Amino acid sequence: MADSFLSDKSAKVFVAGHRGLVGSAIVRRLRHLGFANLVLRTHAELDLTRQSDVEAFFATEKPRFVILAAAKVGGIHANSTYPADFISINLQIQTNVIDSAYKHGVKKLIFLGSSCIYPKFAPQPIPEDALLTAPLEPTNEWYAIAKIAGIKMCQAYRIQYVWDAISGMPTNLYGPCDNFHPENSHVLPALMRRFHEAKVNGAKEVVVWGTGSPLREFLHVDDLADAVVFLMEKYSGLSHVNVGSGKEVTIKELAELVKEVVGFEGELVWNSSKPDGTPRKLMDSSKLAGLGWTPKISLRDGLRDTYQWYLENVKQ
Ligand code: GDP
Repeated sequence: MADSFLSDKSAKVFVAGHRGLVGSAIVRRLRHLGFANLVLRTHAELDLTRQSDVEAFFATEKPRFVILAAAKVGGIHANSTYPADFISINLQIQTNVIDSAYKHGVKKLIFLGSSCIYPKFAPQPIPEDALLTAPLEPTNEWYAIAKIAGIKMCQAYRIQYVWDAISGMPTNLYGPCDNFHPENSHVLPALMRRFHEAKVNGAKEVVVWGTGSPLREFLHVDDLADAVVFLMEKYSGLSHVNVGSGKEVTIKELAELVKEVVGFEGELVWNSSKPDGTPRKLMDSSKLAGLGWTPKISLRDGLRDTYQWYLENVKQ
C-alpha cells in the first residue's frame, strides 16, 4: 500500500504516553521495525492537559502519525478514589491531542481505550456493538465515560472531516513498565509485587482482594503493540476494534499462576470486603482476527517476562 504507515519508516510518529505500559511497548515495537523519527515528550516536557501547549507542539513538530496511548489509568481502587482525575484528565488529554492532530495535518491517528467502556452486564464475549447498550460498571465509569467520548470523537472527526482516526480497545494489559503500586495498580502487577515481597520477607500469607471468582482476560502489552501497528497499517473504519487474547482466567487462577511464577510458597487469603468489580469481561476479538491478527504470547510466558522486568527495574 503506497503511503501506508509501514511504507515510510522515516515518517514522524508521535507516541503520546511513551513512558507508560502501552506507550513504551509501542516505542519498542516501532524501534524494532526501524522507525527512525519517533516524537516523544515526557509529562514534564509537554503537559497534554494544557490545550495551548498541545496546539503549539503540533504546530511545531507536525507529526505524520499519532498513537494516543497517554491516559490516567489505575485499578478498581484508584478509580473509586480519584473519580474527578479519571474523568477530567482523560477527557482533556484526548480532546487536545485528537483535535490538534486533525488541525495540524496528521495523516492517521489511533486512540487507545480499554474494555471497561462496555456495559457491566454485556453479552460475553463482548462484541464492539455492545457499546452504549446498558449501564457501565460503577467502579470505573469515570474512566469509561472519558474513553467512550474518545471513540465518539474519532468517529465524529472521521464523519465530518473525512479524517483517518481509528480506535483500538485493548483488554486487560500487563507487561514491562506497568504500575506496581500496591493499592492503586491493576490486579496482575499488584499481586506480582505482593507475592514477591512476601517471598522476600518470608511471610506465610498474601491477601488477595475480592472473592477470586471474577473472570478476566489478559493480553501481554507486546502483543498489543503489534496489534496497534497492524491496525495503523491495515484498518480504516468507523467502529473501534477490540484487541484481546481470547483467553480468560478467574482471579483465583491468576493469583495461583502469579504465585507460581514468583515462587511464593505460602497461602492465599481472600479479602471479600474488597470489591470484585465486573463479574466477567471477555472481549470478542473476532473483528481483529478477521483482519488477520492473532496474539502470540501465552499468559505464563508473559508473566515470566514481566517478573524478570520487575526484578531488574523495580526498586526492591
Ligand atoms: P478491573 O479489571 O477493572 O476490575 O480492575 P482490577 O485489575 O483492579 O481488578 C480486577 C479483579 O482483581 C477484581 O475482582 C479485584 O477485586 C481483584 N483483585 C484481587 N487482588 C487485587 C489487588 O491486589 N489489586 C487489584 N487492583 N485488584 C485485585
